[in-house]
Amino acid sequence: MDEFVDVLVIGAGPSGCVSSCYLHNNGAKVKVVEKTKFPRLVVGESLIPRVMDHFDEAGLMDALNKMNFEIKRGARFIRGNDVCNFDFSENYTDGWTWTWQVPRADFDNTMAQEVIRKGIDLEFESEVIAIEFDGKNSITTVKDKDGNLKKIHAKFVIDSSGYGRVLPRLLDLDAPSGLAPHSAIFTHIKDINRPENDVISFDIIETEVWLWVIQFSNGNTSVGIVGPTDFINNISSESTADALRKAIGMSEHNRERFGGLDFLFEPRKLENYSRSVKKMYGDGFALTGNSTEFLDPVFSSGVAFATESGMLAAKLALREINGEKIDWETQFSDYMKQGIDTFRTYVEEWYTGNLQTLFFHQPENPDVKRKICSVLAGYVWDQSNPFVKRHKNIVKNMAHMINMGNDIEM
Ligand code: FAD
Repeated sequence: MDEFVDVLVIGAGPSGCVSSCYLHNNGAKVKVVEKTKFPRLVVGESLIPRVMDHFDEAGLMDALNKMNFEIKRGARFIRGNDVCNFDFSENYTDGWTWTWQVPRADFDNTMAQEVIRKGIDLEFESEVIAIEFDGKNSITTVKDKDGNLKKIHAKFVIDSSGYGRVLPRLLDLDAPSGLAPHSAIFTHIKDINRPENDVISFDIIETEVWLWVIQFSNGNTSVGIVGPTDFINNISSESTADALRKAIGMSEHNRERFGGLDFLFEPRKLENYSRSVKKMYGDGFALTGNSTEFLDPVFSSGVAFATESGMLAAKLALREINGEKIDWETQFSDYMKQGIDTFRTYVEEWYTGNLQTLFFHQPENPDVKRKICSVLAGYVWDQSNPFVKRHKNIVKNMAHMINMGNDIEM
C-alpha cells in the first residue's frame, strides 16, 4: 500500500531525529525510514555545545539527560609537553557551556526511541532505493528487510542518510571534497586505568597526525588515530587492530594507559572520510548532515552541522509546504556554507600547523582564546567574533606574527 506524508526523512541519526521531531512538534505528518536496526555503531562521539540548542528545540533533552552521558566542558590539546585547555564557560559568544561525550549507539538509539515515543512513524530496517519527482512532490521506493517494496508519497524529502548519501547518489550530486585525503581508525576500550578527572584529549603525534581519547560515562573510552591516508595505511599491513595498537604506541601520553588492554570491537577504519556535494537542495528536497558535507573530526563539528542543517531544513520545509516561497539558496545553502567555511578554515589551519602555533603559544592571550573557544563550541554564525568574521586570514596572520617573535594582540 502506498503511504502519503508531508515530509519523508531518510535516516534516523542526529540530523534525522532533530528534523523529524521539529516537524512533528509543529503539526506536520512525518515519516522516518532507517536502513539499519538500532542500536548501531557509528563514529562521532564528542559533541560541541551548539548541538544542545538543537536537541533542546527538538524536545529531546529530557530523554537524553536521563542517560547520564559524560559531560564535556571543554577539550585538551596536547603536543609533547605543551598543553592547551579550552573551557567552554570561558567563551565570547553567549551559548551552551557544556555538552556530552557519547557512545553513539546508545545516544542515537535514545533519540530514535524518543522519536517513536512522540508518535512519529519511524521504520527501522527499511532502505530508500529510488526516488522520482513530479514537480516538488516525490515518490520514494523503500525496501524492507524482507525485500518488500513500497512507495512513499511526500511533499518534501529531507535526506539525513549520512554516509549512505542517498540523494547525492541517486541524483548525481556528489562532489569531491577540497580537503586533503585523511583517514581514521578507532575502537572502544574498557578504560581500567582512567585517571581521575580525565578530560577529552587530542594528542598530536606529528603535525597532521593525532590521537583522540574520548571518555564515556559507562567506563569505556573511544580511542582513534587520524592522519593523512597514506600515513594511516602504512602503519600496519596486518590488521586495523595492529595499526591502532602501533598508533597508541606512538603516543607518549597514552601508551601505558591503553597499551595492554583489549579492544571492545575490531577497530573500524574510515578511509578518506571527507565528503562534499554540488548542491544542498533542489525542488522538493534538502540534504542535511553527512549527506551534504563532512570536513574532519578534529574539532568534533560533525554532529553539530548535522543537527544545525537538520533543524533548519525542517523549519524551511514546513514553511514551504504551508505555502510560503523559500529561497533555499540564501536561507539554507548560504547559511550552512558560512558555518562550514569557517570550520573548513580551522581544519585547514590545523593541518598546516598554524592553529597549533596559536594554541600552544605562551603566554596565552585570554581574549584570543575566548574567541577561538566560541568557534570550537560551534557558534560560527556570530559575525561580531573576528575569529568568525575574518576566519580566512586571522589564524594565518597571527601564526605568522608568532613565528616572527611578536606577541599577539586583538
Ligand atoms: P548518521 O549519524 O550517519 O545517520 C545516518 C543514518 O542514515 C544512518 O543511521 C544510516 O543507517 C541511515 N541510512 C543510510 N542510508 C540509508 C538509506 N538508503 N535508507 C534509509 N536510511 C539510510 N562528529 C562529531 O560531532 N564529533 C566527533 O567526535 C566526530 N568524530 C568523527 C570521526 C571520524 C573518523 C569521522 C569520519 C566522523 C566523525 N564525526 C564526528 C562526524 C559524525 O560521525 C557525523 O557528522 C554524524 O554522525 C552525522 O550525523 P547524520 O545524522 O548526518 O548521519
